[in-house]
Amino acid sequence: MNSHTETLVIGGGLVGAATTYYLSKKGHDVTLVERGQLNRQSSGQNAGSLHFQLEYRMIAFWDQLQNELSQLIPFSKASELVWRELETELQMDLEVVQHGGLMVAETTEEWQLLKKKFDLEKRLDLNTELLSKSETLRLAPYLSKSVVGAAYCPDEGHANPREVTPAFARRAIENGAKVHINTLIQSIEKYNGKWHVQLNADEVIIAENLVVASGAWTAEVGRMLGIHLPVYPVPLLMNVTEQAAPFLTHMVQHVGQRLTMKQVRDGNILIGGGWQSYFQKTAGKVRYDIPPIVDPRLVIENVKLAASVVPALNDLRLIRSWTGVTGITHDQLPLLGELAERENVYLAVGGSGFTFGPLYAKILSDLITENKTEFDMRAFSPQKLAHLNLFMR
Ligand SMILES: Cc1cc2nc3c(=O)[nH]c(=O)nc-3n(C[C@H](O)[C@H](O)[C@H](O)COP(=O)(O)OP(=O)(O)OC[C@H]3O[C@@H](n4cnc5c(N)ncnc54)[C@H](O)[C@@H]3O)c2cc1C
Repeated sequence: MNSHTETLVIGGGLVGAATTYYLSKKGHDVTLVERGQLNRQSSGQNAGSLHFQLEYRMIAFWDQLQNELSQLIPFSKASELVWRELETELQMDLEVVQHGGLMVAETTEEWQLLKKKFDLEKRLDLNTELLSKSETLRLAPYLSKSVVGAAYCPDEGHANPREVTPAFARRAIENGAKVHINTLIQSIEKYNGKWHVQLNADEVIIAENLVVASGAWTAEVGRMLGIHLPVYPVPLLMNVTEQAAPFLTHMVQHVGQRLTMKQVRDGNILIGGGWQSYFQKTAGKVRYDIPPIVDPRLVIENVKLAASVVPALNDLRLIRSWTGVTGITHDQLPLLGELAERENVYLAVGGSGFTFGPLYAKILSDLITENKTEFDMRAFSPQKLAHLNLFMR
């Protein structure tokens, strides 16, 4: 059985659901295909941080990445505006809180790095301030006295990852988008200028455009398209404490260590920051299709670090740890836009994809429907992969 759609979106995480929404809002005929359930991978498992400051995982590699990092700042500013409007846009409570974020330093070297990062952000007009130790502790008395200062971004915060993707999907369906879950793609071929996507058994969807919104599994979809899409799956750890009375009013992260923390509406503290977990193996083969393993030793390290920065955590019990898989790129920048080698195929992956996902989706919907965007996309364009795909015509 054949059916037709203008745009077929592959992947039902935040990027896929939001792109489907923004396209459907423009009256575009769009279909989303997800091989499992919506929001079951990184978009539903993440820490929910809205990061507008440059993060540890980027500034830790300052010498290699500083040119790339400056490209992200216009994106952060634009993303902040999208989040500020998102609950109104979707008419849903997404538990969006933008009460500010603090990136703390505990040593002189960390303070120097924080200052360097702040100078770059300030030059590019990001809304951040550098706070001395006394200013930091006055703003955030819950922090340890070991903190020597912080960068403060009043716009940062968090939202509930369990709510955001389903909200986009619900609104997209109301706008007329079609959503197929538990649908495995068998093959993707181009005939007569159109993409023929073979689904489960004998069903084919014929599309003008494809959107690859497959997160950590982007390389697999690339193989179906016959090209290399260098996105690397990374297994990450998250932890959550029991509920407590509200005290942690900001999203807290560390400039020199892998740590993020926030207190959610129900009072639980989410603790993450990029501690790893491990992919499972079967007969020596790494399994990217099943949840990675929680390593209790790493849970302890992550939580110990959190309690050293926010001592009140010593009095709270940890109630759950889990893992998720995210997709990263070699330069920490997103890959966003149309592929050079495959006409009418668009990609959005990488970076802090919860923070940036709605913005990626808006940009893709503009590129697909109007062939333009207000952003300078050169640093993110998948066209920079052309050299990798020279032999993959
Ligand atoms: C533990 C953890 C914490 C994180 N914390 C943060 C944070 O605090 N802030 C932040 O900004 N970012 C955070 N991230 C990153 C963020 O979650 C991701 O960047 C973002 O969710 C990616 O969204 P996505 O839609 O691209 O991918 P996903 O949510 O992974 O969705 C991809 C979907 O594609 C589907 N799929 C794959 N291949 C196919 C196929 N062939 N056919 C059909 N469907 C397919 C998958 O089943 C999946 O549902 C975190 C990630 C993790 C894992």
